[in-house]
Amino acid sequence: MKVTLEKASELIKQGETVAIPTETVYGLAADAFNINAVKKIFEQKGRPADNPLIVHICDLNQLQDVAKDFSDDLQKLTDRFWPGPLSVVLKKRKSVPDIVTGGLDTVAVRMPDHPLTLELIKKTGPLTAPSANKSGRPSPTNPRHVIEDFGDDFPILDGGASKLGLESTVLDLSGDSITILRPGFVDSKMIQDLLKKEVKLIAESDKKSGKKSPGTRFTHYKPKASVKWLDYSVKNISDSDSYFIFHSKTIKSSNRKNVHTYQGDYSSLARDLYDHFRTADYISCSTIYIEPFTDEKIHPLIPALKDRIKRAISS
Ligand code: AMP
Ligand code: MG
Repeated sequence: MKVTLEKASELIKQGETVAIPTETVYGLAADAFNINAVKKIFEQKGRPADNPLIVHICDLNQLQDVAKDFSDDLQKLTDRFWPGPLSVVLKKRKSVPDIVTGGLDTVAVRMPDHPLTLELIKKTGPLTAPSANKSGRPSPTNPRHVIEDFGDDFPILDGGASKLGLESTVLDLSGDSITILRPGFVDSKMIQDLLKKEVKLIAESDKKSGKKSPGTRFTHYKPKASVKWLDYSVKNISDSDSYFIFHSKTIKSSNRKNVHTYQGDYSSLARDLYDHFRTADYISCSTIYIEPFTDEKIHPLIPALKDRIKRAISS
């Protein structure tokens, strides 16, 4: 059910949850300081309690309300990338309830780049919002996806389709080193060039244990169809119930059903990826084949795309 900005703000203030648009994916938002409201997010999504949430703010004063121990690096990053698809992990203030951070002493914060949502946060204060999908399902990138998971009656602030389509980069600034916990549109080179410092990528072992970022432990983004890297050496792949995604420049567009080609346009692939996952399920395809990435360096989005696809492949 589409709601106005005023209604969305009223619902949030009453301790309810509302689906909100952002440039990355749709979020399931609640007042970050209202424990009972945040509880509803976990219940509605079926999200494990130890997977912490990102707090969304609309200005830097609100950053002071939720986090502390700010550095020059943070200043440079927020000047350059906010509003935008970068979440930063910082030491949290006591006022942020433990339920938001899964009991951690840090909090992830982001200023989303969507005019409606920034306007909403101005009225309500900081909102905590994971993606507005049932846990384990592909993230929603338009209101139709939210309705698929939560039904027609769920309140949605409709801001159109998400421009970017992949979740934010999560960057840990709370320790001695600067570490990307989740790759996204803001990639390691952009951060390194700005800060003139080494930026680490979360180690595979930390990903598996969830020690640095509990969310890395979970299989997200999974359609019902099984997702596979396309192996050209395997013959006899059935066309009829398969779905194909090609991204390299050299593979020309196809008029065939269920074959999608991007010819090097990785931004469009990122924008469409979750919609493909959901569409493949909708038309009952059993397998989604994706062309493997041979070279990570040809586009800054490839690490993020690979991360999301690998999570969809793992079971
Ligand atoms: P989602 O809201 O589903 O996009 O997921 C949020 C991501 O941010 C998950 O991977 C979380 O593990 C990560 N995250 C949120 N808060 C923290 C935190 N305080 N420390 C480390 N990672 C966090
Ligand atoms: Mg999510």
